[in-house]
Amino acid sequence: MKYFTAFFLLIFAALILSSCSDTNYADLVFINGTIYTVDDEIGTVQALAIDADTIMFVGTAEEIKDFIDDDTKVIDLNGATAIPGFTDSHAHFLGLGELKLKIDLLDTKSWDEVVELVRKSAEEKEIGEWIIGRGWHQEKWSDIPEPNVNGYPYHYDLTKAAPNNPVILSHASGHAIIVNEAAMKLAGIEKTTLDPIGGKIVRDKNGNPIGVFEEESAEALIRIHYDEYLNQRSPEEIAEDKIAAIFSAQKECFENGITSFHDAGATFETIDVYKMLVDSHELKIRLNVMIGEDNQTIREKIDDYWLRGYGDHHLNVSSIKKYVDGALGSRGAWMLEPYSDLPTHSGLNVTSIDELEETAEFAFENDLQLCTHAIGDKGNRVMLDIYEKLLAQNTDRRWRIEHAQHLNPAEVERFPANGVIASMQTVHCTSDAVFVEKRLGEKRAEEGAYVWRKLLEKGALICNGTDAPVERINPIQNFYAAVTRKLDDGSEFYPAQKMTRAEALKSYTINGAYSSFQEDVLGSLKTGKYADITVLSKDILTVPEEEILDTKILYTVSGGKIVFKNDTN
Ligand SMILES: [Zn+2]
Repeated sequence: MKYFTAFFLLIFAALILSSCSDTNYADLVFINGTIYTVDDEIGTVQALAIDADTIMFVGTAEEIKDFIDDDTKVIDLNGATAIPGFTDSHAHFLGLGELKLKIDLLDTKSWDEVVELVRKSAEEKEIGEWIIGRGWHQEKWSDIPEPNVNGYPYHYDLTKAAPNNPVILSHASGHAIIVNEAAMKLAGIEKTTLDPIGGKIVRDKNGNPIGVFEEESAEALIRIHYDEYLNQRSPEEIAEDKIAAIFSAQKECFENGITSFHDAGATFETIDVYKMLVDSHELKIRLNVMIGEDNQTIREKIDDYWLRGYGDHHLNVSSIKKYVDGALGSRGAWMLEPYSDLPTHSGLNVTSIDELEETAEFAFENDLQLCTHAIGDKGNRVMLDIYEKLLAQNTDRRWRIEHAQHLNPAEVERFPANGVIASMQTVHCTSDAVFVEKRLGEKRAEEGAYVWRKLLEKGALICNGTDAPVERINPIQNFYAAVTRKLDDGSEFYPAQKMTRAEALKSYTINGAYSSFQEDVLGSLKTGKYADITVLSKDILTVPEEEILDTKILYTVSGGKIVFKNDTN
């Protein structure tokens, strides 16, 4: 009996040994690269080994040999650069996916061009079918449309281009729409229609609506009719469209080297779909979702939804998205002083302070992170006031201000003092630069517009995103904006506020991970963290400035799996 037991013990030990030795070898190895770990102690290495979904080793080419056996896939980087997968800390996942189904107006240079795209689209539509587009911006047009109100065109050309189809074209900022007559007729919009609270129906001097609606409450007058039209689809069709948009967004993210994505406002219905796709392992990108629902709904449902690190850190649902104001382009940003180019107007407060205070208290009591959109200096001040009352008791709540775009100098140090994260979109700076001084005047532009340097010097943490589909999801363009503040014409927008390249890389990796409570498992390349890695054709930390924009994504690795490989390179 004794021998019998010993025999089995021996076999058992042999089994353990062989399984141990198995895990000592990597599934995937990168060699001969410049690998920025974004870990201050480790710095730059040449090689990295992955076991299943986890980084097992980072080090020299010589050291890595111990991790390679016959089954290991070895990728020679040939001097290419690897970094932790990009985290887009503020963008809209469904919106990004749906962009493919809409008319893309982001690159349009005139109102005529916008109208022409709608005319072409109308030719292919049935009577009554809606036409949806997004991305126009009157400040980026080569000439001012005539007639206009505050630079906005009237609907006439649009109405002519699509007489039988309702049209909604969203402003690039996401804070205004222009629609045609068919859409206004469906919604019963007339001269006598009153502005809803927090929104504005833009009118000519006789009080007639010109077709432009500012902010959500005014846009809703039209959008509810579009929603009604969409709801005529069967529930299966609705779910199918949503899933198609999700996969389209995931694909675009992976093609752009993005492995983590903070979704800035999703409904519980959308979160259900995300969770289903995480459970079926089809959602491979890591989503940190901000809940975009009203206070009452959040109160009722949050216990069933709160998640952190769910599905091997593929889904977080522990944040709330709110809006205090609108955007600068549409003059919705809530300013302490009136707009320089519209002295009767100081922007819009789009959610009441009472409601925001209620959200903050609820969030504080229920371990929810609050992420509030604030663009204007007054919007930022008001939110910091609300945050400060609660956060003085506990500064590790990592509450965020989304955009933090125009700050009165007094507000800068209130970010680090309260542990408030500045969640900024560096590419907004260079794409808005053409109209910032017009809207705010030189003094406010210099003192407070996209003041990354000032925030960093005071010790604030900045995480970086693109706000896609407001901007393109492209992280290279966004990184370039952060480190150059250069416009298309080569001019620089207050260059003293640039980030260094190392700071920009952190803002896009480890700071994003910190902003979603995942810095222990994501955001840098070190043993034990998830293997989320992006390989770049150029070393964005050292190449001459002009070459940054030529950088291509070569590989995207998510959880140890290659989810994108650039075959053209
Ligand atoms: Zn946004």
